[in-house]
Amino acid sequence: MNLGTSAQNTWCIGCGNFSILGAIKAVLQSLAEESLGLENVVLVSGIGCHAKIVDYINVNSFYSIHGRVAPAAEAIKLAKPGIKVIGFAGDGDAYGEGMEHLIFAAKRNIDITMIIHNNRVYGLTTGQYTPTSPLGYRARSTPFGTKEMPINPLDVMLASGATFLGRGTSHGLELLKKLFREAILHKGFSLVDVLQVCVTFDNLYEFYDKRVYELQDHEPSDRQKALIKIREWDYNGDGRIPLGILYKAEMPAFDEECKMENKIFDRDLKIRNYLRGNCL
Ligand code: SF4
Repeated sequence: MNLGTSAQNTWCIGCGNFSILGAIKAVLQSLAEESLGLENVVLVSGIGCHAKIVDYINVNSFYSIHGRVAPAAEAIKLAKPGIKVIGFAGDGDAYGEGMEHLIFAAKRNIDITMIIHNNRVYGLTTGQYTPTSPLGYRARSTPFGTKEMPINPLDVMLASGATFLGRGTSHGLELLKKLFREAILHKGFSLVDVLQVCVTFDNLYEFYDKRVYELQDHEPSDRQKALIKIREWDYNGDGRIPLGILYKAEMPAFDEECKMENKIFDRDLKIRNYLRGNCL
């Protein structure tokens, strides 16, 4: 199965986006070989370098607007509950303008997967700071360094009700594949924060390689332990950075609850009647 397209790839050589592309293509391919028909998958992207990923995968896709990947993905899921919806967003996109949408998607535990290309810089607009840039980060918009601490997005997501949280890096392809697969198969809101290196505006490969480690014997269903691991690194300091599945819980998914409601009220019949002019 060829998931490639004829679109010319315009990412910079060495960009961490290539790892995310390679990992998601491998996962979709293996899921398709098992049972998932790729006609039942929709990819959604936002605005930024990451967004081009949907051009490079031969699967149904939808370009949304800045900060609106989550609501677009939620709408697709609710309209067609049987399909898998995978959203791709950058850190500026998801954690800046889109954060309130992400919080409510997590709160609802709607069954979508969000993959965040977190390079901690606005790459497409040539290097401004984002919500996850470290304190003092110097860039075009902050020549004297930022004066604010970064947010820890996984901490925010845990507090909001997300039921699957993972973190990987663009130097760890095998782990990315594992995280993406588990996130897609999870029933409920899943988010994978990928520390995706932007080689052009903030090359952090060496920084991450020195600090990351893969979780061993971590119990992701223990919320308290998940919180400790999530807070081990605050996206600012020099601490060790845990990678892997940080949190995983079973909770009713919003779309499943809506499906029940739709059955009771026969939504399709109501829409048909409405269209025939028989609505109340
Ligand atoms: Fe990748 Fe950065 Fe180039 Fe964008 S600017 S394609 S994020 S390396």
